[in-house]
Amino acid sequence: MSDTNSDRPGTIAVHGDHASRGGAVVAPIYQATTFAAPSNEEFLDAANREFTDAFYTRYGNPNHSQVGELVAQLEGTEHAIVTASGMGALSTMALSLLAQGDHVVLQRTTYPGTTSFITGLLEKFGVTASLFDQVDPDSLSAAMRPTTRLVLLESPSNPLLDLTDIRRCAQLAHERGALVAVDNTVATPVNQRPYSLGADIVWHSATKYLSGHSDVSAGVIAGSRDLVERIWRTHLAVGSVLGPFDAWLLLRGLRTLDVRMQRHNDNAMALATMLSRHDEVDRVFYPGLATHPQSALAREQMSGFSGLLSFSPSGGAARAERLLDTLRLTTRAASLGSVHSIATRPSAMWSNQSTYRDQQLGDTDDALIRLSVGIETTDDLLEDFERALLNTSTSE
Ligand SMILES: *Cc1c(COP(=O)(O)O)cnc(C)c1O
Repeated sequence: MSDTNSDRPGTIAVHGDHASRGGAVVAPIYQATTFAAPSNEEFLDAANREFTDAFYTRYGNPNHSQVGELVAQLEGTEHAIVTASGMGALSTMALSLLAQGDHVVLQRTTYPGTTSFITGLLEKFGVTASLFDQVDPDSLSAAMRPTTRLVLLESPSNPLLDLTDIRRCAQLAHERGALVAVDNTVATPVNQRPYSLGADIVWHSATKYLSGHSDVSAGVIAGSRDLVERIWRTHLAVGSVLGPFDAWLLLRGLRTLDVRMQRHNDNAMALATMLSRHDEVDRVFYPGLATHPQSALAREQMSGFSGLLSFSPSGGAARAERLLDTLRLTTRAASLGSVHSIATRPSAMWSNQSTYRDQQLGDTDDALIRLSVGIETTDDLLEDFERALLNTSTSE
């Protein structure tokens, strides 16, 4: 545990880092690419120390160290590093841990960028991959081979909010000698701590909830000190470097992660409940609902259910689009995890990417709306959705 004597996310988010701030309550932005050393000994030390943040910014910068320390505390891991995006985190991690001839197992439904990096790009370098059905841990065992080095999990998944039994899948992967990495972007450490469920690596698109305001692209990789050091050595070569100012903004976002997530959780639960009872809504997908097919698992491995939900209004894709036009508090945009409520129709977003579409959406209809619920006042969101559903009603 940290010196804060608390393992609760609200306190950690505010006190979990110990970087020197030179007397200022908020640490400065080290907007510098290189660092001076007063002597040759100190120069050599700065250049050769693992996770150095006093040599050259691609290796590390005090703003990186500070965010990394805080994320490690929040995820309950020994160490964490930051990258320039979530994809930067995934690609750095994969290039570090995999070699020609290795095999990866990943979920059929996972972030489309993850699928395309692992099954598309890595194939050129002789790394093969198999998919498994995240709701069925036995299908993970079936997909594993003697050469499987890495199993990639993501829970809840997007846009259908299926869950992966992280503890069970980690156990099955470890029995066969593979490492387990969990994309914890959607749940966040406030709601779910995959490291304590057996994951070796926890990674994020910090572009989403961790920074939380749609103004920073960033990624993080957290795990044991040894494993993160191995990945950091690859990071030096890959060069997915987060700018110091963006690291500072990410830290600023993290300070309020716990309070933001409480509101995201509350708002999504309230909206999912209202929508699930509405006559003109055919289906609602949210792990916090008692009607979610994995509701027991949700309660076991999550302490809150986050701000992402999906639903299909009656009346098909045309009605769904009219609904998006009519809503006042949602923005039609990609991405998730921001203070703003963001809504999209995934089948439109992925309309020219048929593989993702078929893979991610399964048998759902074109009316499906994915909603990243913001932190607006709950009653205003409820009223906005009630009004928009009424004004676009298809029944007489
Ligand atoms: C956005 C996202 C990513 C990719 O992150 P970027 O910061 O956009 O590179 C990975 N996983 C999930 C679950 C995401 O939502």
